[in-house]
Amino acid sequence: MLSNAFINACISLLGEENVLTKESELITYSYDATPGIPREIPGAVLFPQTTEQVQGIVKLCRENKVPIYPRGAGTCLSGGPVPLSKGVVISFQRMNKILEIDTDNLTATVQPGVVVATLNAEVAKYGLIYPPDPGSMAVATIGGTVAENAGGLRGLKYGVTKHYVMGMEVVLPTGEVFRFGGKTVKNVTAYDFTGLFVGSEGTLGIITEVILKLIPAPKYRKSMIAFFGTLEDAGQTVTDIIRAHVIPATLEIMDNMTIRTVENFAKVGLPTDAAALLLIEVDGNGKDGVEEEATKVIEVIQKNKGTYKVAETDQERDNLWAARRAALPALAQIKPATVLEDATVPRTKIVDMLRAIQEIAKKYNLTIGTFGHAGDGNLHPTILVDPMDKDEMARLDKAIDEIFEAALKLGGTLSGEHGIGIAKKKYLKNEIGSSGIEVMKRLKKALDPDNILNPGKLVPMED
Ligand SMILES: Cc1cc2nc3c(=O)[nH]c(=O)nc-3n(C[C@H](O)[C@H](O)[C@H](O)COP(=O)(O)OP(=O)(O)OC[C@H]3O[C@@H](n4cnc5c(N)ncnc54)[C@H](O)[C@@H]3O)c2cc1C
Repeated sequence: MLSNAFINACISLLGEENVLTKESELITYSYDATPGIPREIPGAVLFPQTTEQVQGIVKLCRENKVPIYPRGAGTCLSGGPVPLSKGVVISFQRMNKILEIDTDNLTATVQPGVVVATLNAEVAKYGLIYPPDPGSMAVATIGGTVAENAGGLRGLKYGVTKHYVMGMEVVLPTGEVFRFGGKTVKNVTAYDFTGLFVGSEGTLGIITEVILKLIPAPKYRKSMIAFFGTLEDAGQTVTDIIRAHVIPATLEIMDNMTIRTVENFAKVGLPTDAAALLLIEVDGNGKDGVEEEATKVIEVIQKNKGTYKVAETDQERDNLWAARRAALPALAQIKPATVLEDATVPRTKIVDMLRAIQEIAKKYNLTIGTFGHAGDGNLHPTILVDPMDKDEMARLDKAIDEIFEAALKLGGTLSGEHGIGIAKKKYLKNEIGSSGIEVMKRLKKALDPDNILNPGKLVPMED
């Protein structure tokens, strides 16, 4: 329980309207988008609007040994913002100003609560884009996406969040404000602090300002959808597109289970007997270059016995993408809970991974639909379960263990996008070994000696 004196100090720092303490209001903040993980209703939720207020909260929490759980929009899929004790949640949803769009240096300086889609809508007015585009971008915040190093559909060609963070301001768990980086394209001064804090999942510092790189929006694009009779043909197409030196902006895959479910749900005209489909979009600033790349992609599809359809208008493009957008909602309606996993392998191993997932589904009698970013080797096996069915939940745990075992065996990684948080902490040693764990623990102890910042996440301090 937080003391009255602590709550009163928070109120004098932030104002009564920025401090929640009623249990009915706090419950929401004990969830993110991850089913089946431990959680606790926090002692309070705080809404700072300035760096000084964040610093004040941290100092107060440090004096009182109160754990802090930073939170953006709560869309995390690994338990990152979920409280594990009666500490405080710091929500950044009211610290959400775009401070500057610098059209000469091509940067945006923003507060952490800015929603990714809002930033993109603003920079679009200047013919610019901020490329990292997670599926959750309509609500996910810059703070949350930087803390998770989020990726998205455009990751293959344009990279992920870490490629766009040029500088940051963070409040350290000891209360100091630390600024690094800036608007210079080059900066090799000191350690690579951006690399350290991007993807640190709210465990090393609280992000209070970010300088982001923007790029000119590509003028032309061409989208197509291709269907294949075997997974092997679809997988070979992915490899051959890259081998033909075409890097599509997006290169997405869906397995048969997902195709059937999407068609049943959205009636977009997908052939339900296809083993897999690929959604491909090439883009660029020259019309001829984009046409040339599209032609090369079509040749590759044909060589691999695929059938295809090219979108000739924006309306047709939207229709193609409707199928991809429907994948998660369509799968989610099958059972009460949806476990959206994130297994990533080298892209040449995509077919092996899809096969492994299908075998695991059969072995544990589970419904798993898989879709994902084929170009990055980043697959989302989506497991549909009923949390009331204890037997099914036990089979789910075993299946997830085996999915990650398979990904690591294929030279992959535990997470391409969704982070480690609480959900994947137990597997971490399998990928980074004891020495990796030791380095993480030393970094955590050096920056957060009291272990008050997002304790219990990412770093297995207990190992
Ligand atoms: C439908 C759906 C689709 C998704 N698609 C994608 C996708 O395509 N790609 C992808 O990468 N992810 C995806 N995700 C996962 C999720 O949206 C991302 O992890 C996103 O980065 C979380 O942002 P958020 O604002 O919701 O942060 P939260 O979930 O609130 O927090 C995420 C982490 O960031 C920390 N954090 C938040 N703000 C700060 C801050 N200011 N300072 C320090 N730490 C902070 C939290 O403590 C937590 O550890 C998806 C999720 C859903 C539900």
